[in-house]
Amino acid sequence: MSEKRHIYIDFNASTPLKPDVKAAVIEGLDSYGNASSMHTAGRSANARVQQARKAVAELLGAPPQSIVFTSGGSEANNTVFQTMRSLACSEDGSLLKTGRNEFIVSAIEHPCVLNAALYLQENGFKVTVLPVDEYGKLKMDALKAALSEKTLLVSIMTANNEIGTVQDIKEISRLVKACGAWMHTDAVQALGKIPLNVEDLGVDYLTVSAHKIYGPKGAGALYVKKNSPLIPLVHGGHQENGLRAGTYNNPGIFGFGKAAEIAAGELEEYGKQMAALRDQLKEGLLREIPNVKINGHPQDVLPNTLNVSFTGAEGEAILLAMDIQGIEASTGSACASGSLEPSHVLVALGLGAELAHGSIRFSLGWGITKDDIFYIIEKMPPIIARLRAMAQ
Ligand SMILES: *Cc1c(COP(=O)(O)O)cnc(C)c1O
Repeated sequence: MSEKRHIYIDFNASTPLKPDVKAAVIEGLDSYGNASSMHTAGRSANARVQQARKAVAELLGAPPQSIVFTSGGSEANNTVFQTMRSLACSEDGSLLKTGRNEFIVSAIEHPCVLNAALYLQENGFKVTVLPVDEYGKLKMDALKAALSEKTLLVSIMTANNEIGTVQDIKEISRLVKACGAWMHTDAVQALGKIPLNVEDLGVDYLTVSAHKIYGPKGAGALYVKKNSPLIPLVHGGHQENGLRAGTYNNPGIFGFGKAAEIAAGELEEYGKQMAALRDQLKEGLLREIPNVKINGHPQDVLPNTLNVSFTGAEGEAILLAMDIQGIEASTGSACASGSLEPSHVLVALGLGAELAHGSIRFSLGWGITKDDIFYIIEKMPPIIARLRAMAQ
């Protein structure tokens, strides 16, 4: 038996800071100047904010002036939905300004998109939730059927946080733009893992977050294509061209910039290394444990994500047993855990309750070694066997 290890394999929930990112965050903590101030301290903070903006923009193939810094992915997503709500309503919330007031999302969106959409639905807007196939791919026929001259916004995530399935955003955007609606994608999980280019994708809005790419929590950004509308969620000062008020979060933004810069340089290598380790883990689990089902698309999937269902064992019990062995993974998404409902993503794939409840997400990242994967492959079979026996 191998000696106990500590293996964090939950990088889709959040990532540790890279040392250079941590140095940039600390620099931001010491950079006390208000980046909007005229004096030297303010100007030096502002220079670093602009440097970060450029780094994030470059990672997306976007012009720097199209990047609006936010407190994270959730805020960026909500800003888009609230902008659209404002566009659809006059000041008294009733009259249509644009003639368009319908929203389209997929069934497997992150809760911060799904709940933003459901909130609009509760407030009288039509929201269509599109189905996905058994691999988590958006059903394009359903999209085509749902699009109309009433469609205001379509929001489809680039890559799913739980199963890693990557959508064909370019084709989706083409259909959405042909229909005259606005197109948004939540690319939080795709960033730094697969190449992203906003021009190529053809989107109007794209959301990213720092803490999924080895940056600090509480920092994110929204790409806003030139001439696409944006109404601030937070009103106040003139920061971000009046699109998002509030004194600049120097530590968060400096750290995000550094993380983006590093991610750009490592993108290819990261993809290769994660896919090799992920495949090693997948093959090991399939070889050593009977009745295992891999969830997600076999090819169009993030290189670091492996979602596995173990029939006849319960996800939270598996996680606890794994944690005792020093292995930290997750069931479904971190945001959904704590609820006894099965993951809405796995349900959307058509998994029965038993498989959906017995699923574990392994999400890999820097620092995980081949030996760590061997260790996991060694520790998992007895855990699953014991829990299955108990459930008999
Ligand atoms: C983590 C995550 C978010 C939320 O980003 P925060 O910066 O934590 O608010 C949004 N969408 C997806 C797909 C995510 O994985």
